[in-house]
Amino acid sequence: MSRPLRHGERVILVDSKGRQYLIVLDEGAQFHSHTGYFDHAELIGREEGATVRSSTGARYSVMRPTLADFVLRMPRGAQVIYPKDLGAILMLADVFPGARVLEAGVGSGACSLALVRAGADVVGYEIRSDFAERAVANVVGYLGAPAAAHFRVHERDVYAGIDERGLDRIVLDLPEPWSVVKHAEAALRPGGILVAYTPSITQVVQLREALAESCFELAETLEVLARTWHVEGQAVRPDHRMVAHTGFLTSARLLGPVPGGLKPARLR
Ligand code: SAH
Repeated sequence: MSRPLRHGERVILVDSKGRQYLIVLDEGAQFHSHTGYFDHAELIGREEGATVRSSTGARYSVMRPTLADFVLRMPRGAQVIYPKDLGAILMLADVFPGARVLEAGVGSGACSLALVRAGADVVGYEIRSDFAERAVANVVGYLGAPAAAHFRVHERDVYAGIDERGLDRIVLDLPEPWSVVKHAEAALRPGGILVAYTPSITQVVQLREALAESCFELAETLEVLARTWHVEGQAVRPDHRMVAHTGFLTSARLLGPVPGGLKPARLR
């Protein structure tokens, strides 16, 4: 589908060495670098993948940023969840179009972006109003104004409770996810899934203890290790540097009422 680049769009310029620059196309502006300059107007009306040359002949190609490109470069207050973990969260939480998802905290909105783009209807709980505003700006900034109908953020402490009922999924990225387990039991529908991202393994232990005492089953914890490779002629090996740690992902599913009212953990 042809979709020419327009004034006001965010794009990535890629130079001949693979370096990337995120800019907003402005028909009156110029892009300047150590290799000279060119007018943004040369890109407007062109298709993604188009190439221009700067005043000194250096080559730049233009692309729309992927969600991962945007997440790593967007304005942020809180630390964002990295793309490698966002992909896993979408699978672990089994996010589907129309899924009713509660997300807390919302932070800069990286996870919100992944959830909304996967088709979920997201309600966010965030204690900091400045973060809530930035998250909405980031989601709408990347996905466009219609995304606002699928992402509402309330300035609320999720440890104090969840008002929503019959939720399909709950996704947590905050310091004490174990404080949310009781509220999640009431807010999720049976079969619903809870996923929590936690940087520290001691958080995982506390969360798993709370889950073991709850009506959640199938608890699982994993980490995602992504190692990029250097591929150049016969020099083919892992890159020397990697992001070795981001966070652990813990997921679990909610059971329905148990006959006799016994807690699942005690049935075993
Ligand atoms: N997942 C987000 C980053 C979240 S950072 C992203 O990918 O961009 C953690 C956020 O949780 C912070 O913004 C913090 O303000 C919020 N937070 C901490 N405790 C909270 C609570 N009890 N209720 C709601 N939000 C909370």
